[in-house]
Amino acid sequence: MLTTTDFLHELRRRGAKRVSRVRFRTNRNTVWSLTQRGTVLNVHSAYRLAPPSLLDAFATLAIEGGVRSAASKRAARLVGDWPEVAIAIEEARARHLARTREDPNFGRTHCSATDEQRAYLRTLYRYFNQTRFESGLPADVPVRLSRRMKSALGHMVPGERPDGSRYVIEIALNIDLMLAGNGAERIDTLLHEMAHIADYLESGSLGHGKSWRSWAHRVGCQPTTLYDRPVGRRPRRRSRVTRVPPLPPALLGP
Ligand SMILES: [Zn+2]
Repeated sequence: MLTTTDFLHELRRRGAKRVSRVRFRTNRNTVWSLTQRGTVLNVHSAYRLAPPSLLDAFATLAIEGGVRSAASKRAARLVGDWPEVAIAIEEARARHLARTREDPNFGRTHCSATDEQRAYLRTLYRYFNQTRFESGLPADVPVRLSRRMKSALGHMVPGERPDGSRYVIEIALNIDLMLAGNGAERIDTLLHEMAHIADYLESGSLGHGKSWRSWAHRVGCQPTTLYDRPVGRRPRRRSRVTRVPPLPPALLGP
């Protein structure tokens, strides 16, 4: 089993000199991602058992800094199709869903929003549900604000009822998105998470696969993950953010 140091060593030995750090992730969505301008490779912890052929593929992706050429496309497919990681992710999702079944509050984000911020987010959610999703999403999904998220800008918490039917527990957004200057990313992140809702309720998928990307195109958000987006950050992690951004002109009435 590879440690992060071994993994990094294997990549650099194969010519991927830009990568300076490897992080293993066990969450339900990350298969792999390159962050911090291609210097950090995040991989699902199942890849601790990656055979040499997969390490070659990761090295190709790291050298190119993502999926750019035919060679890196092939590499991405090889890495993504590895059965071990598909199994590990399925198991993590099943465990997560089992917990939401036992405890409907499981996974809920501690909400740091003020009443005014909550009202603002509710209004935006309703507006986009109407204008981009043909009112096809549940009307009442709570949108919370998190002060704990670091690099992530948002997530959607899926739930499953005892009868196996799917519902959405909440959307959580990074509170930094409420700062002035982050308007474009705020809207894009909300649409991104709403596309996860549509995709999860329709197909049961949770990642950024084909079915999610097709929702992203349809509703007009960037069809990419939310890492490394250009957002301004609050001065200190403990700072409160109470700002309520102005609503889009269309919502302000005539
Ligand atoms: Zn996402």
